[in-house]
Amino acid sequence: MLALTAKGGTIVIGLLKQIIKTGRVTEQYDSGTMPSRFRGQLVHEESLCLKCQVCRDACPTGALEFNNNQLVVDNNACIFCGRCVEVCEHKALSHTTEYRLATLTSQLSAKIRATLQRSLHIRHVDAGSCNACDWEMTALNNPIYDLQQYGIDFVASPRHADMLMVTGVVTRNLEQALKMTYDAVPAPKLVMAVGSCAASGKIYGESYAIRGSAGKIIPVDIYVPGCPPRPAALIYGLLLALDRLGGNSK
Ligand code: SF4
Ligand code: SF4
Repeated sequence: MLALTAKGGTIVIGLLKQIIKTGRVTEQYDSGTMPSRFRGQLVHEESLCLKCQVCRDACPTGALEFNNNQLVVDNNACIFCGRCVEVCEHKALSHTTEYRLATLTSQLSAKIRATLQRSLHIRHVDAGSCNACDWEMTALNNPIYDLQQYGIDFVASPRHADMLMVTGVVTRNLEQALKMTYDAVPAPKLVMAVGSCAASGKIYGESYAIRGSAGKIIPVDIYVPGCPPRPAALIYGLLLALDRLGGNSK
């Protein structure tokens, strides 16, 4: 039997009250507040930084680099582990709760956007993930996030898809499957790299079993950082790609 903590019970009761009051449960992707412990985008306070590079050396993914003596964070490589924040004795690094970190490789052509704007069909490819990203993607279909409210849905066949969402670092076992799935999607097509493994692959590098990021195998249009990215971060990336954020883009 499912056991609820006191806090969990309060949340469920609040949710039920809201459903009774409004008649609906579905939320806009950006309407909820982030948990206070959520680790989002890193910020670097230049005035506190001694350039000791301890943070860079502690980062397990190589997400931190110094360019011209300036600390640069590679969001795609970051797994938001908080190690760099812990080791910085000068409190020059901290996490915000910002999750809207998706980026486009280039401005997608107006033609693609016009073609796909009203509805988008997605085929998911797990190229070798730990399944954390996949679980967050599954949540897109629940009544809270309800991806279909945006006219976006998952399909079983790449031949019916407009977009591939790729999770996981690409393993050599699945490299061919990823290429074939990409080829089977009719043009114009989009590719989203979901999570730090697919977006950068730096956490695993390259080995006898691993090829690396999705971008090494197929052209990627949208990167959504996170380990794993929250469902809201994925919806932000989808709406950013389709130019449907209105005034809500960062
Ligand atoms: S550990 Fe802190 S002080 Fe040292 S380089 Fe990194 S941010 Fe700057
Ligand atoms: S949060 Fe972790 S992965 Fe991200 S930059 Fe800091 S140490 Fe590296």
